Amino acid sequence: MLPVPVLERARDELLEWQGGMSVMEVSHRSKAFIAVARQAEADLRDLLAIPASYKVLFMQGGATAQFSAVPLNLAAADATADYLNTGHWSERTIAEAKRFVRVNVAADEAASRYSTVPAQSSLRLTPGAAYVHYTPNETIHGVEFPYVPDTAGVPLVADMSSTILSRPLDVARFGLIYAGAQKNIGPAGITVVIVHEGLVGRARAGTPLVFDYRAVAEAESMQNTPPTFGWYFAGLVFQWLKREGGLAAMAERNRAKAAMLYSAIDNSSFYVNPVDRECRSWMNVPFRLAKPELEPVFLAEAGAAGLANLAGHRAVGGLRASIYNAMPAEGVKALVDFMREFERRHG
Ligand code: PMP
Repeated sequence: MLPVPVLERARDELLEWQGGMSVMEVSHRSKAFIAVARQAEADLRDLLAIPASYKVLFMQGGATAQFSAVPLNLAAADATADYLNTGHWSERTIAEAKRFVRVNVAADEAASRYSTVPAQSSLRLTPGAAYVHYTPNETIHGVEFPYVPDTAGVPLVADMSSTILSRPLDVARFGLIYAGAQKNIGPAGITVVIVHEGLVGRARAGTPLVFDYRAVAEAESMQNTPPTFGWYFAGLVFQWLKREGGLAAMAERNRAKAAMLYSAIDNSSFYVNPVDRECRSWMNVPFRLAKPELEPVFLAEAGAAGLANLAGHRAVGGLRASIYNAMPAEGVKALVDFMREFERRHG
């Protein structure tokens, strides 16, 4: 979901933005667009309290492009990088990283069917690794780290695609954070990379220019035409977040929304969430019905009741409610009410 006030503003400005044409029709090199781009970065820096020693890059290719850009920029081909495997997106990241670097899987939660995260004490980290990569929130499995791993000084890299901006964050704990826009930032097309300046300028020979963090930073993310509409829209979302009280306010809301949904699931034997209570995602809540044959009925009836996008990812099936920042508490309440009513009729 995207915030309705932001959608309305973008709609109102679609034909005529700042007294002229639409934002999609102006040059990305125009003063007007550069001002939008800089303001978006400034607002993101404010929201996350990003230290001045970090670069903020607006890249393309989605989070998936970062699966390759990270090893290309941060590791030599014969170096070792540690990866924590906690679900579908970790698996995808690891498969791609193996093309570029020696991968040590420092923790692997596959045996729990990705219903757990590893304890800090169980991480098998490589001394002197190029970096440690993890996925703080696994979008498909609904598993979230309740802690930031301690890597003893090795740069920590996080794929925050599905959790960024859901709560305050201590950016200084990380060497690099990346996130595709299409959850809490805006429409697909922009990928935000927040990288410590000490990690910029190390890309190995042969790294494509559009993936080279130094080249991107030097060009202020405008080596080539950026997705201007997505960047503008992200800027509107950042302003909306500030108006709503920033990330502390988001955290309160998100905690309450998740608690409402998990308690509805846990207080019923009709619905099941398999994830360990300590590491349940605030953003993605997968669940099953005790009678799985009823799941298609649930989806059809929910759809008819105006509750959309509740099918689990095709990789795992079942059901999943994604309750990103823009989902209001009333939306979660509507789902919970529907679930009770559905159980009453089919339980
Ligand atoms: N990582 C995570 C955690 C994701 O949730 C997703 C998309 N759902 C991706 C990576 C892939 O992102 P993209 O489609 O932007 O490449």
